[in-house]
Amino acid sequence: MACFPVPDRYGAGRVRTHYTEPGRQVVTYGTGRPDELIALFLFRDGPGPVPRAERLDRLRDVFAGAGWITPRLLADAPEPNEIFMDAMTQIELPAWHRDRVALIGDACGCLTLVSAQGVSMAMAGAYVLAEELAAADHRTAFARYERRLRPEVVRRQRNARLFAGALVPATRTGLAAQNLMSRFVMRDAFAPLLRRRFGADSILPA
Ligand SMILES: Cc1cc2nc3c(=O)[nH]c(=O)nc-3n(C[C@H](O)[C@H](O)[C@H](O)COP(=O)(O)OP(=O)(O)OC[C@H]3O[C@@H](n4cnc5c(N)ncnc54)[C@H](O)[C@@H]3O)c2cc1C
Repeated sequence: MACFPVPDRYGAGRVRTHYTEPGRQVVTYGTGRPDELIALFLFRDGPGPVPRAERLDRLRDVFAGAGWITPRLLADAPEPNEIFMDAMTQIELPAWHRDRVALIGDACGCLTLVSAQGVSMAMAGAYVLAEELAAADHRTAFARYERRLRPEVVRRQRNARLFAGALVPATRTGLAAQNLMSRFVMRDAFAPLLRRRFGADSILPA
C-alpha cells in the first residue's frame, strides 16, 4: 500500500470512494482538514521495502494506464519523501511484555488497515494497561492486560486476514464477483452481519 495527502481538486469532500481494477485499487477519503484528501493505493504486487526516492516511480509503474482520477492523483503527489509505502503486515508476537516493558498497539498486534480498527485497539490497549497498572504491580498488570486484550486482537486479526484476500481481486472475474457481492452486502439486511464481522464493539464490560 501507499498513501499521501492531496488537495481536494476533485470535489470528493467527505465521501470515501474506491476504484478497483484487477490487482490494483485507488481509494480517496477526507482527512477532516478542509479541502484535503488521502489518496490510498493498494496493489497485490508486494513492493518489499522501496527507498523513499523511488516510491512515486514505483506507483506510476504499478498504476500505469489506470482509469478514474488515478493519473491526476499521481500528478498531485507530494515529494517522494512524504509518500508512505509499506507492505500490509500483521504483527503477531508470542509475548507482549518482558521485565518492565509492555507493548501496545501495532507494536504487538498490528491489525493492518483492512480491519479499520488499529487506532481504536491501540487506544483500548493503553486504556486497559493503565487500568491494570492502577490496580496491581507491573508484573501482575502486564499479565492481566495481555490476557484481556489478546483474544480481542486475535479475533480482529483473523477477520482482517479473511477479508484481505478479497480486498483487491486479482482477476476480472474476481472483481465482477466482488461488485456483485457489494451490491448485496450493502443492503440494510446485511448490516448486523457486517457489524459482527467488522464492528468496533467496545471491549469493556457494558
Ligand atoms: C494507510 C493506513 C490507513 C489506515 N487506516 C486506518 C483506519 O481507517 N482506521 C484505523 O483504526 N486504523 C487505520 N490504520 C491503522 C492505524 O494507523 C494503526 O493501527 C495505529 O496508528 C496504531 O497506533 P500505534 O500508536 O500503535 O502506532 P503508530 O501510530 O505507528 O505510532 C507509533 C509512533 O512511534 C513513532 N516511533 C517509531 N519508532 C520510534 C523510535 N525509535 N523513537 C521514537 N518514536 C518512534 C512513530 O513515528 C509513530 O509516531 C491505517 C494504517 C495505514 C498505514
